[in-house]
Amino acid sequence: MNKKMRKIRTIIEPAPVVEGAGVRLKRSLGGEQLNYLDPFLLFDHFGSPHAEDYQAGFPMHPHRGIETVTYMLTGEVHHRDTLGNAGSIGAGDVQWMTAGGGILHEEMPQVRPEGNGGFQLWVNLPAKLKMTQPRYQDIPSQTIPEVTTEDGATIRVIAGHVSGTEGAVTGIAAKPTYLDVRIPVGSSFTHAVPQGHTAFAYIFEGKAAFVEDENGSQQWVAQPALVVWEDGGLVKIVTGGKAVRLLLISAQPLHEPIARYGPFVMNTKEEIQQALLDLKRGTFIWQDEGRS
Ligand code: FE
Repeated sequence: MNKKMRKIRTIIEPAPVVEGAGVRLKRSLGGEQLNYLDPFLLFDHFGSPHAEDYQAGFPMHPHRGIETVTYMLTGEVHHRDTLGNAGSIGAGDVQWMTAGGGILHEEMPQVRPEGNGGFQLWVNLPAKLKMTQPRYQDIPSQTIPEVTTEDGATIRVIAGHVSGTEGAVTGIAAKPTYLDVRIPVGSSFTHAVPQGHTAFAYIFEGKAAFVEDENGSQQWVAQPALVVWEDGGLVKIVTGGKAVRLLLISAQPLHEPIARYGPFVMNTKEEIQQALLDLKRGTFIWQDEGRS
């Protein structure tokens, strides 16, 4: 294993955007600053106590060629799709949706006194799985394992491994790691990311220093910010007088060409045109060739 510490490649300040039917959110991947961080296509942080910032939601819309991962912090989102799935996710829950060959769904935040908040990440699918059968993994909060380190950091293991504990989401093509990490005041957290994997942290509470080498060279970063690491081995984060809460996300890059157009992410322009044509003809939704 590579024991070399990963240095910071770039720090992204989330940009305000309006998405769906009028939802205000903060975007740090998939926007102007960084369009693609292979295999991650988009990272949005939504959150507001005010109903007018989120209640319009995301009415029925298509996806093809990607996986979307929604992690809720606050409130509730109702979802429904054209395959007949319906349900709701609340605080601490995760929904890992493989859009594959085609899905139409809606994601509607419910007006609640506590407001609405969470994250959506888009993970690219390898070319050979872009047209795969759509799939949902709904992961209720209580099934997500939590690990506490000797230094007092607590980690919710959504996907990937932390000291022998396997995350709740498995069987994802990109072999992602998705951790929700809390580091208390005056403590630290070290994690090994496989060499060659893309890795980033999204700080959403407090501040922390990212340690870049054994001599203690470090950079302080405060919320909200997305930190992209260079390739290497270990990542190390330390806290001072404030605690920090962050997501640590990593995965193997695909190194494949991408063609993206809104909610479709394919490998070629022709495949995007096909998606638009399928939508127009009413043949967009994934169908089992052997079934009809
Ligand atoms: Fe969607």
